[in-house]
Amino acid sequence: MKIAFIGLGNMGGGMAANLVKAGHDVRAFDLSQDALNAAKSAGCAVFGSIEDAVSGVEAVVSMLPNGAIVKGVYSDSVIETAPEGSVLLDCSTIDVATAREVITAATEASYDMVDAPVSGGIAAANGGTLTFMVGGSDSAFARAKPILEAMGKAVIHAGDAGAGQTAKICNNMLLAITMIGTAEAIKMAEKLGLDPQKFYEISSQSSGYNWSLNAYTPLPGVGVESPADNNYAGGFATPLMVKDLRLAMEAAETADAAVPLGARAAALYEDFLGAGNEDLDFSAIIKTY
Ligand code: NAD
Repeated sequence: MKIAFIGLGNMGGGMAANLVKAGHDVRAFDLSQDALNAAKSAGCAVFGSIEDAVSGVEAVVSMLPNGAIVKGVYSDSVIETAPEGSVLLDCSTIDVATAREVITAATEASYDMVDAPVSGGIAAANGGTLTFMVGGSDSAFARAKPILEAMGKAVIHAGDAGAGQTAKICNNMLLAITMIGTAEAIKMAEKLGLDPQKFYEISSQSSGYNWSLNAYTPLPGVGVESPADNNYAGGFATPLMVKDLRLAMEAAETADAAVPLGARAAALYEDFLGAGNEDLDFSAIIKTY
């Protein structure tokens, strides 16, 4: 299939390479020449504009930094430029309202479009093991699914337009809360004289079981191997967690949803980022206890 790929950064670069490996003819565009050079090495054809990249394609995939950029790219250069009837997949993490707005404009112009944000970081993007949570009509989902399957291990239809973004921000708000809760419990156990490894052994098999403790233990040398064992390098960077929490807080306000713990987690992560921890994995918040 002829697929245009827009935004070949940390995530998009590996995703586009996996589409090439699956036998697709990938036409890449990015504002960064370095990103385009890497895409070329991975087997993509590179273009000097989005308009050229989308010429003659059957599908367009984007992986961009934020909602304003996604809206600009689709309204200025994709909608009414990509061949009529092609399927459009935005995999960026953006606000729910913009995702719905862009999908509505695309649908009115007779495209099928989904929002398909991902769970999994750069390693999963490179390894083709992302989880996609997808919002859009049944027909748009059916067309997007085989393309997403070439880049991920799970593709889940969450609901109508924007449902993918909703799932993503609610999931990541929960992740922030469980990470902070896990950090507090481990450090309190330690201060009360309990060996943190013993606490891990007990709680990971008790009702304290949760992903942040069991699969991503935030203290070096305790529990499973995680970014904590690598000086909190790699993993899910703190600025990305803060981005997702800001989106979650914005969406909670729009929906009039009560999120006292989410709001507290968002404030703690804002402070942690503001203290100069932009290069650290989000689990490093345990250092503040
Ligand atoms: P990145 O900054 O590495 O890549 C974004 C790319 O988009 C860059 O190469 C940039 O040059 C390009 N770009 C920006 N504006 C453009 C435009 N107008 N036209 C064409 N290209 C443009 O970011 P990333 O880490 O790859 O993240 C991309 C998206 O994935 C974000 O929405 C992020 O929230 C989400 N995400 C990232 C991770 C992660 O671990 N990095 C995990 C899950 C989701």
